[in-house]
Amino acid sequence: MAKCQVCGKKTGFGRNIRHQHSGRWERKAPRTNRKFMVNIQNKTFIINGVPIRLKICTRCIRTTTKNSRATKSSV
Ligand SMILES: [Zn+2]
Repeated sequence: MAKCQVCGKKTGFGRNIRHQHSGRWERKAPRTNRKFMVNIQNKTFIINGVPIRLKICTRCIRTTTKNSRATKSSV
């Protein structure tokens, strides 16, 4: 199962509602089970000159780039 190695975010489960406008009441808004997959990317980070490969979610990639930029600008 897809899992982020930084924040530990995993696949979520929920239901999909199809908005159907015709038919009988039972068929009006059929719900089916669905998955919410985490957007996982393989990314190499260089920490203290050592390359480390991580399966990281896009949310964490965004956070790390943002943080690295902030530290660079402050120095
Ligand atoms: Zn993450």
